[in-house]
Amino acid sequence: MRTERIVQPETAADEVALKTLRPRTLEEFIGQEAVKEKLRIYVEAALRRDEPLDHVLLHSPPGLGKTTLAQIIAAEMGVGIRISSGPAIEKAGDLAAILTNLRPRDIFFIDEIHRLRRPVEEILYPAMEDYKIDIILGEGPNAQSLRIDLPPFTLIGATTRAGLISAPLRDRFEVSFRLNFYSVEELQAIIVRGGKLLGVEVTDDGARELAARARGTPRIAGRLLRRARDYAQVRGDGRIDRETARAALAMLEIDDAGLDRLDRAVLIALIDKFNGGPVGLETLAAALSEEKDTLTDLVEPYLLQEGFIKRTPQGRVATDRAYAHLRRNPGRLI
Ligand code: ADP
Repeated sequence: MRTERIVQPETAADEVALKTLRPRTLEEFIGQEAVKEKLRIYVEAALRRDEPLDHVLLHSPPGLGKTTLAQIIAAEMGVGIRISSGPAIEKAGDLAAILTNLRPRDIFFIDEIHRLRRPVEEILYPAMEDYKIDIILGEGPNAQSLRIDLPPFTLIGATTRAGLISAPLRDRFEVSFRLNFYSVEELQAIIVRGGKLLGVEVTDDGARELAARARGTPRIAGRLLRRARDYAQVRGDGRIDRETARAALAMLEIDDAGLDRLDRAVLIALIDKFNGGPVGLETLAAALSEEKDTLTDLVEPYLLQEGFIKRTPQGRVATDRAYAHLRRNPGRLI
């Protein structure tokens, strides 16, 4: 059975709850200052020229605000946004239908763009470059190619794996941004803002406690806030202070470093089963009965950034910090 994780992509119910927390303007979007500054300039310039914004590629681990930023860009440009994802666009025809229905300057957002199928991706090239697509009608010797003009539009692609995007597709994005993990202070501000929107009182140290364990990720900060609110309403006085936050985090089995059960399971497997590594991704995933993608997208980025693991050409290795965190000595249990 797969472990239910606080970092997993949203379910439909989450999505509804999170919508209320989503910032709607660049002003409300906390953090990523350098990205916001450039976007302000590009948006303003495009508006002045009365042109669509250049195509934008956003990459980051999940939950750092790629979809949110795309929606904000649409709002700031005053245009519509059509949202889809790489795996959802099955055929070239599906893509053609979306593109031909855009209005001038609209934004087309493709999440997980690294998972686009090749034939679909190839339709995107002329669409991005010249706002044109070629559709093949019929088959065999009678097949005819039909060229269709598209309204000028902006493609915003989002990916958790920039390395998996083909070079021809990557080259067609004029602008590319990498979103970084958020600082504790930024997450604290996001939690305080979220508390106001949800109508729950969060003290400064309560917000800080949650922020420090949100793995640098606003999506997780939002979830911790909602779980802490539940806890505060049922077991406390409705207010999220430091004590309530700590109790809620303990209930969720999130430790002092913000690691959850799966993070710890990865470190424990690395240390206890593979003697600290190096171990390959496949072997590690098999030992944990987890998908490889779950490890690369949801677990590793934060463990790497916080220095719990290292990636070497031979595989993943547990660091001294991992041994210390789990109270293990290299080679034997304490
Ligand atoms: P991604 O597309 O990168 O997976 P999302 O844009 O879906 O991430 O963001 C996840 C959630 O985190 C959103 O619902 C939003 O409420 C919140 N969020 C993301 N970035 C910010 C931010 N900078 N400020 C406030 N909330 C944010």
